[in-house]
Amino acid sequence: MPSVAIVGGGISGLATAYYLSRRGIGCTLIERRPRLGGVITTEVVDGCVIEGGPDSFLAAKPWAMRLIQDLGLAGEVIGSNDHLRVTYLWKGGRLVPLPDGLMLMVPTRIMPMITTRVVGWPTKIRMGLEYFRGRRAGHDADRSVAEFVEDHYGLEAVDYLAEPLLAGVYGGSPHRLAVGSVLNRFVDLEREYGSLTRGVLAERRKAAAPAAGAPLFQTLRDGLGRLVEAVERAIAPSTEVVHAETGAIVRDGDGFRVRFGGQWTLFSHVVLACRAYEAGELVRSVEPELGALLRSIPYSSSMTVALGYERSTFRHPLNGFGFLVPRRERGRMIACTWMGTKFENRVSPDRVVLRCFLGGSEDPRILDEPDESVVEIVRAELRTIMGVGEEPVFTRISRWPQSMAQYTVGHQKRLAEIEERAKAVPGIHLTGNAYYGIGIPDCVRMGKEVAERIAGSRPVTGTRASAR
Ligand SMILES: Cc1cc2nc3c(=O)[nH]c(=O)nc-3n(C[C@H](O)[C@H](O)[C@H](O)COP(=O)(O)OP(=O)(O)OC[C@H]3O[C@@H](n4cnc5c(N)ncnc54)[C@H](O)[C@@H]3O)c2cc1C
Repeated sequence: MPSVAIVGGGISGLATAYYLSRRGIGCTLIERRPRLGGVITTEVVDGCVIEGGPDSFLAAKPWAMRLIQDLGLAGEVIGSNDHLRVTYLWKGGRLVPLPDGLMLMVPTRIMPMITTRVVGWPTKIRMGLEYFRGRRAGHDADRSVAEFVEDHYGLEAVDYLAEPLLAGVYGGSPHRLAVGSVLNRFVDLEREYGSLTRGVLAERRKAAAPAAGAPLFQTLRDGLGRLVEAVERAIAPSTEVVHAETGAIVRDGDGFRVRFGGQWTLFSHVVLACRAYEAGELVRSVEPELGALLRSIPYSSSMTVALGYERSTFRHPLNGFGFLVPRRERGRMIACTWMGTKFENRVSPDRVVLRCFLGGSEDPRILDEPDESVVEIVRAELRTIMGVGEEPVFTRISRWPQSMAQYTVGHQKRLAEIEERAKAVPGIHLTGNAYYGIGIPDCVRMGKEVAERIAGSRPVTGTRASAR
């Protein structure tokens, strides 16, 4: 029976512990914070579910849902209110709805694109002509998203579509993120069809019709913290959870000694389910080059600010899921979600909750601002953008320094080198949002794969899936 240490009690470490326990393998899960869940934190304030980190996951990626079903929580799953889904873009001093039929930055319907104010006529014409683009030889897959989108749709599509969408999801810049890692599906479509619009439409015709009413996002009615609690309960019989800092790892024969809680303990497998730069520090004495490669994966910092308001005096109609602010028009806020519209039952009937997203690779300094200034900044911008002058009845700020891995140009090459180097240290396993997908479903999938590898049911290879 292997002895396993997992460093990091976020969803990646928890999923690994869970799937190990399903195979009858116990482990020691070491988490430095006094609670499990990593960036997943849920608090109920005034009857409203406030997520400090992620608020949902993509329904199209099945791994989180499978874990939820295994844990017996399927009855608590709710889907996004897609019939109310309108996302606005702050442009030219007004909130402009993103046109219907837009798949990220790929237009698939004509009329909404003709009438939209999101982009001007030169871009609209360019987007229309892109439909006739043929396949082109010699494209380097490792381009930035900005180069890729500009090549297809022009600079305005980069600034007003790609930039705000990627800032909202990755806290990253399209000029640095690698299209082959964050939009690999579009790279495949380009290779096959030339035109992204033609590619999306052709794939849609080929695909089975989506299940009626299948939502875009799913979550748990009482918050994603329920998932953390349920995993914690499920692994309790087989897992020792230690709340301590993992300070160092050294080789010892075929295994590894791990220092935590003031002592060294021997394990045959160590799963590093922490951030890549933290994993890099821990493995530096075991395999220095692997350590250096891991430390070279950049991260961005982010912050969420939830503001609760009295509904009876709130004047904005909240007719959509919220808005994005492109960098060209940005103060400090990147995005804002109108929580009660996006999901049913998460905001009490007498409250309105706005959840704002700040920081990202372009504005890490916002995390250094004291709470009062953050609230002031956010309220001033909400006043300008939404006309919200009301006093919030509560505010909650969550700071996530260096938490969101950035799949920058060169990411795939870096991962190949990491995999190569990792072969020199069998028994050390890497999982987490730094590698093959940033969202919760991919973190669950990678944790499961590591557990299966340790259980010996799979060959030791990395598998890839598209990013969130
Ligand atoms: C603000 C925000 C919003 C997001 N929104 C969404 C969303 O809506 N949907 C979605 O799918 N994804 C979203 N994501 C991404 C997703 O939530 C994360 O990628 C995922 O939860 C990361 O999980 P993890 O376990 O890999 O890392 P983490 O949650 O960062 O956990 C790593 C853990 O390791 C611990 N640790 C590190 N070093 C040590 C050490 N030496 N010793 C002991 N413990 C250590 C840390 O304390 C931490 O708890 C969001 C992320 C953020 C930050």
